[in-house]
Amino acid sequence: QPQVPLLAASGLSKSFGGIKAVDNAAIEVAQGSITGLIGPNGAGKTTLFNLLSNFIRPDQGRVIFDGEPIQQLQPHQIAQQGMIRTFQVARVLSRLSVLENMLLAAQHQTGENFWSACLQFRQVAKEEKQLKERAYAILESVGLTHMTHEYAGALSGGQRKLLEMARALMVQPKLILLDEPAAGVNPTLINQICEHITTWNREGLTFLIIEHNMDVIMSLCDRVWVLAEGRNLAVGSPSEIQTNSEVLEAYLGQ
Ligand code: ATP
Repeated sequence: QPQVPLLAASGLSKSFGGIKAVDNAAIEVAQGSITGLIGPNGAGKTTLFNLLSNFIRPDQGRVIFDGEPIQQLQPHQIAQQGMIRTFQVARVLSRLSVLENMLLAAQHQTGENFWSACLQFRQVAKEEKQLKERAYAILESVGLTHMTHEYAGALSGGQRKLLEMARALMVQPKLILLDEPAAGVNPTLINQICEHITTWNREGLTFLIIEHNMDVIMSLCDRVWVLAEGRNLAVGSPSEIQTNSEVLEAYLGQ
């Protein structure tokens, strides 16, 4: 009996003006997997992420996450359900400290109840202590302890990507969508990022990763989906994908 995927999308389409950015695309992410999403420039990968997380509404298609249809949910509600995404250019709040970025991520989780929670001052203080402890522990695990009280704007591009991932962990998600975690990151930090992803995956976290760095995809992923011109071109193990002639052609043709 095959396991029900944690994330399953089908028939997803999105046009911008005359351009079909995503064209009847499907994707599945197995529970506990590290799944890759690759394709030539402009293939529609980031748009597909935006559709999965409802940052952009699809023209057509359905998305099931953790057994529930999520098309009707707002992005923050999807995050509350346990699907968190990061961006190609890490979106951290530069004028806040690294620690404040971490704490703010957790506060989003309380949503509308935040102000009522504020009334219960003791409870909040206790939770804040727990949140801070959690933030310190996560920052330590990604080697950012020394930057805890620095402005996030002082971080390098690679460190910002680490902070984005660390921030995602604050809400104990089930699935993290990573948009090019290795882009613009120096090779040492790329290795560290890959090690963290592997560790978090062993601890039960599922990942969907867009990445142009094939070494990263090949070393991390259980299964790889290939998009080209908005459509599904292939899906398989990294070695199957690496030797698939259609995939090679799509990359050479760009
Ligand atoms: P890359 O690997 O270069 O990041 P990608 O596979 O992530 O590319 P998308 O960024 O999803 O591809 O873009 C797919 C297509 O949709 C491209 O032709 C792009 O120009 C177009 N596109 C994406 N977003 C928009 C938008 N907001 N408005 C108009 N066109 C868009």
